[in-house]
Amino acid sequence: MGASVGRPRSPFPGGDVLRILVLAPHTDDGEFGCGASIARFIREGHEVFYAAFSVCEQSVPYGLSRDVLETELKAAMDVLRVPADRVFTFRYAVRHFPTHRQEILENMIKLKSAINPELVFLPSSNDIHQDHSTISEEGTRAFKMTSILGYEIPWNNLTFQTTSFIFVEDRDIDRKVEALMCYKSQTFRHYASEEFLRGLARARGTQIGARYAEAFQVIRWILK
Ligand SMILES: [Zn+2]
Repeated sequence: MGASVGRPRSPFPGGDVLRILVLAPHTDDGEFGCGASIARFIREGHEVFYAAFSVCEQSVPYGLSRDVLETELKAAMDVLRVPADRVFTFRYAVRHFPTHRQEILENMIKLKSAINPELVFLPSSNDIHQDHSTISEEGTRAFKMTSILGYEIPWNNLTFQTTSFIFVEDRDIDRKVEALMCYKSQTFRHYASEEFLRGLARARGTQIGARYAEAFQVIRWILK
């Protein structure tokens, strides 16, 4: 017997408009980790803010403009319908986040007072990439009074706790795929495969009896 496929029963997100902040170490991590959920939240009228801590100027493929990832991030945010004035970019050097830990924490504290989000997404505490783990740790520190979900980046996770799921529809996955395909400079990345993106969302959906979902690690969960 296969699992039934449909919308799961869930109390989330309720009727209120939520302010949701996505913390991305590098441009594209947020789209990969929770892009379909972003699409769903915006479709449902919630306010999504996105902060990328590096535009990876040092690792742009040879021959491309240094700021190509900033341009691609704008295109991806347009696809997801995140307004430009809710997108923040910082310019930390790739793989050097741990040496800028305190500055990053201070950036996050400013974001917290400017946005005052009810829900924050960041890389899971199992992410072994040095920049991702810095954002995960400092983000958890900055937003400890807020609900926090950790997103998965499978190639950086030695293990991942699927302790929460966000149900998403086909159209939300379509938007996630379309957003990630804006990163034309990154076609060598794992996520450049539509089959992989849909396959992961199908696997996560199957865990909750739905067609598609994104899975998250519960880091903090506050019910008001
Ligand atoms: Zn990254």
